[in-house]
Amino acid sequence: MAGFRLFDLNEAQREAVTTTDGPLLILAGAGTGKTRVITARAAYLIAQGVDPSAILAVTFTNKAANEMRERLATMIEKEQAKKVTMSTFHALCVRLLRSGIDRLGYKNNFAIYDDSDQTGLIRKIITRTAAKDEKLDHNIAKNLISKAKNNNWDAPTDDKTLIGTVFARYQAELKKLNAVDFDDLLVLAVRLLDGHPDVRARWQERFRYLMVDEFQDTNKLQLQLVTLLSSEERNVAVVGDDDQSIYGWRGATVENLKRLPADYPRLKVIPLEQNYRSTGSILRAANAVIANNPKLYEKKLWSELGAGDPVRVIECDNEVHEADRTVAHIESIRGSSNAELRDFAVLYRANHQARVFEQALRKAGIAYKVSGGQSFFDRAEIRDLCAWLRLIVNGDDDPAFLRAATSPKRGIGHQTLASLGTFAGRWKASLFEALFAETLDTALPRRSIETLHEFGRTINELEQKARETTGEAAARAFLLAWLKDIGYEQHLHDDADSPPQAAARWTNVLDFVDWIARRCGGSGAAATGDEVAAKSVLEVAQSISVILSMAERGDEQNVVTLSTLHAAKGLEWPHVVLAGVNEGLLPFRGAEGEEEQAMAVRIEEERRLMYVGITRARATLVVSTLARRKRGRETVAGVPSRFVAEMKLAEEGVRVDPRAQLRALRDAAARRAEGARADAPTQ
Ligand code: ATP
Ligand code: MG
Repeated sequence: MAGFRLFDLNEAQREAVTTTDGPLLILAGAGTGKTRVITARAAYLIAQGVDPSAILAVTFTNKAANEMRERLATMIEKEQAKKVTMSTFHALCVRLLRSGIDRLGYKNNFAIYDDSDQTGLIRKIITRTAAKDEKLDHNIAKNLISKAKNNNWDAPTDDKTLIGTVFARYQAELKKLNAVDFDDLLVLAVRLLDGHPDVRARWQERFRYLMVDEFQDTNKLQLQLVTLLSSEERNVAVVGDDDQSIYGWRGATVENLKRLPADYPRLKVIPLEQNYRSTGSILRAANAVIANNPKLYEKKLWSELGAGDPVRVIECDNEVHEADRTVAHIESIRGSSNAELRDFAVLYRANHQARVFEQALRKAGIAYKVSGGQSFFDRAEIRDLCAWLRLIVNGDDDPAFLRAATSPKRGIGHQTLASLGTFAGRWKASLFEALFAETLDTALPRRSIETLHEFGRTINELEQKARETTGEAAARAFLLAWLKDIGYEQHLHDDADSPPQAAARWTNVLDFVDWIARRCGGSGAAATGDEVAAKSVLEVAQSISVILSMAERGDEQNVVTLSTLHAAKGLEWPHVVLAGVNEGLLPFRGAEGEEEQAMAVRIEEERRLMYVGITRARATLVVSTLARRKRGRETVAGVPSRFVAEMKLAEEGVRVDPRAQLRALRDAAARRAEGARADAPTQ
């Protein structure tokens, strides 16, 4: 057996790995090797002669499943490793249903409706069902239906409310189409196993050994599925950490952990206490924060890795400054060590926070990937606008030409572009050059040529104006006029699934316009506050053309990770920056008029997110706060998150940010001066 050694494990881990029979709970804090134990356990079982295809490990994401599979392949023979089933709950359900959903009245070749299929169908049904004076937002309907399904509620048969009727019709329609949605996968798999003992017995026979990672984030249905799959012997090993339960909003419940001892009377519980991931400073901060939550289980967490670098808290002026400093931080660590790009992660609470980091990283030419959300520059609307700008900067940019000429549609069809391409190829010219060739009429009909010429003239005019327009306000006006001219907002509305979607895209466009316009501005535009001369739109477009055309790189590449805290679960990086650690962001702001009890529950979940964030770091951790931050389109004063104080860094001589220190000194001096004036005797 290649590379599988039990002595890579500590005593508690070894016990967890070698306890193969009966129900087992590994309850332990972050970085204690829970995931490693699952992989090692699979390897150990196989070494004991268990058939690899009898082992099932369920994880939270496909990425986690793949990682586990890869790790396993280094521990045992590849052929053996391949036979182990490592999958997400959803993928597992698809598999169960493919060979048995006919028992529930569907055909086994059922279709799986994704989010947008689902939205389309629900919208159609609402339009058909609602009376004239009735309104129901399809997103709200979708969420309610999803919630109902996750609570295992059937579509009502006698409900006269609009939502009840929509739910019932939606279900009927799906069935007619032989389709299921994501929530159905779990509901139907549970129903199949629950209602059909022969099917259940078959799968129990198949999977003799079950393991579940991140058990704290399972919901009721998932627990039911696990229970139904486990055979008489109950060879179920689940691992989890109640302090990392962060999907409460999606129906996950720590109750599952609490209920286990009752559900499985023979349950053996093994705690793991040694953290192998983080330095002492990072771990102390994590422990201090989570100590503010009520304890479900008492857990100890220690590390042998030494104190390491102190955790740094920095205060940035605003988001742009934060992103610039993060880039400087990454470059400085890379300059003084052999750290690679893949060793860095910037973690934040909300998807939209990624944007400014993307812009800064692109400016610095640093490759990155965005996980847990779509990259700003990857959005269709931003790609469209980038194509126009690239074409203005460089007429020979053929890919930009093709995109700009058709976004929005302006009567230039694929056939026309294909003929133009062939013609240009023959003359070794770019598409833009070919446009004005005298002999173009040999390749294209007159009408097409006219449309192309018009497009060419538009680009030339834009280039001219972009050259002449300088300064922030003028640039903004120019860009907005251009968008109006090409009818871009209308195009978004024609193209989108729904008005809110079009509106969201238009907001992105306006943000992008703002970004370009700000860069055209003079002094004060730069985060440094240095004097800068105003620039023309063309100059700015030129200076960011590298940014605009930077190719996206694949997942496996050596790149910096930008990720939401949720998507960072289970992962680790040597260097982590937690960004925007402010009240209102982390903890995220609550709903208007939120009740006290609900708020307390929410803050506890936010605190667990902070704990997850801190414990992703191995060697260095920077916690960044904002002095001013954007909220919607306005700027508000930033208040550092309560979680910053909860890290109790002051008690161990935290390294204070020199800028913050300077500011404090300046403020104190100003206060003294104020005081002196106030104290001065009046005459
Ligand atoms: P999380 O709660 O964040 O999911 P986890 O408990 O699953 O964390 P792992 O990801 O399995 O922890 O392990 C954390 C790190 O510690 C990994 O880099 C892993 O390889 C390492 N590690 C775990 N156990 C040992 C060990 N016995 N010896 C050396 N390194 C270990
Ligand atoms: Mg893990």
